[in-house]
Amino acid sequence: MKIVFATANQNKVKEVQALLPDTVQILSLKDINCLEDIPETSETIEGNAIQKAQYIFDNYGYACFADDTGLEVDALNGDPGIYSARYAEPEKNADNNMSKLLNELAAKNNRKAHFKTVIAIIGFNKELKTFEGICNGEITTEKYGEKGFGYDPIFKPFGYDITFAQMPLAEKNKIGHRGKAVQKLISYLTKTSYSKSDSK
Ligand code: IMP
Repeated sequence: MKIVFATANQNKVKEVQALLPDTVQILSLKDINCLEDIPETSETIEGNAIQKAQYIFDNYGYACFADDTGLEVDALNGDPGIYSARYAEPEKNADNNMSKLLNELAAKNNRKAHFKTVIAIIGFNKELKTFEGICNGEITTEKYGEKGFGYDPIFKPFGYDITFAQMPLAEKNKIGHRGKAVQKLISYLTKTSYSKSDSK
């Protein structure tokens, strides 16, 4: 069967495809000629993942899954959350986003935070399913490390003395939010039986 991963990131597509049996073929947005911006207007991470998957299912007729991720900081009532990519607006700039977050937390003692990824899948096995991956940790007081992206240099996962940006990618994937959600998706796709009428 064919199933769309609603992402523009070809590396994410390859990563997931490599973990699936040959009977499941992952298509990217480019593969189905979807070049427009997919609406992301929900108030929640879960809502945005569902909205993206639903959009492809409704407009292109393919079973689809989509992911959405945010960094939720306890002392900021869950911010930046759905605004993680553009926290220090207007443009998406990881360095500015981190600086703004460090500023907001300068006078706070509680630096606990977690990354949350939700993957929503629609049109597969006639049901809407979501899979969540959480990675708990804390926000450091400075930026450390060069690896990774986004908020990695200021996020120290629980049980570690280094930030995501200081650890090898394989280690981050093992304990990280996205890796956990992807593992749940893979086991669902691998185990679940499906009828041919569900998809193209
Ligand atoms: P997306 O939903 O995967 O596009 O993630 C939204 C935003 O959350 C990104 O632009 C980053 O700012 C942040 N983010 C997501 N995943 C990570 C991560 O693994 N490390 C650091 N920042 C992340």
